[in-house]
Amino acid sequence: MRMNRSEREPGMPARGPTGAQGSPSSIARVMPASPRSLRDRDESDPYRHAVELVQRGRMILDVSEADLEASEAALGPFHPTTWYFRNALNEVRRSWDRLRAELGTKTLEAALNQPPLTVLTLSEPANGSPSVVLVLIAGQTYRTQRVSGTELAPIQWRLTRLHTPLEDGPYYVCRLADGSTQCDCAEWTYRIAETENGLKTHCKHLAALAALDWI
Ligand SMILES: [Zn+2]
Repeated sequence: MRMNRSEREPGMPARGPTGAQGSPSSIARVMPASPRSLRDRDESDPYRHAVELVQRGRMILDVSEADLEASEAALGPFHPTTWYFRNALNEVRRSWDRLRAELGTKTLEAALNQPPLTVLTLSEPANGSPSVVLVLIAGQTYRTQRVSGTELAPIQWRLTRLHTPLEDGPYYVCRLADGSTQCDCAEWTYRIAETENGLKTHCKHLAALAALDWI
């Protein structure tokens, strides 16, 4: 449905273009105006900027929780390092709550479910291992690793949830030599594979990698 720009949302008070009586942030009311991909929008676009902030914030929150868990498990709850991570996590949670207050829960949840607009790269301590590249897929933080392909499936990625329930991944997402795509998650295996356009239909993992132009 097309809405005239001058029409206001039902139930909303009339408001000038500057939103003088509105929330402190104009971002909260800037919802996607067209189905055009967010990545195609200018980086100064307020909605795109808000989505990036939310996705990045969520990944940092997940990383902070994982750091604290790992430190507690390895060093115990009262070790100075654990203490450091606990304080860091509290700080990150406060920032996350501020972002939620600024944008509103609805915008925040919508941003979490947008295809990834940003990646978070963590460099490993100097042991020569590659840096960790994280992306947010449907609100969950995943580590992404390109794995060597085969003749049949030249492009392959392994996606590992940062918080891993044992039954949940890692997933292998690939593009086959004939251009079709597949994933080994439950959504693809049970709901997509058998359908007519299965080899062209994306699960959330394929959609995310496609949005990044990685597959
Ligand atoms: Zn999948």
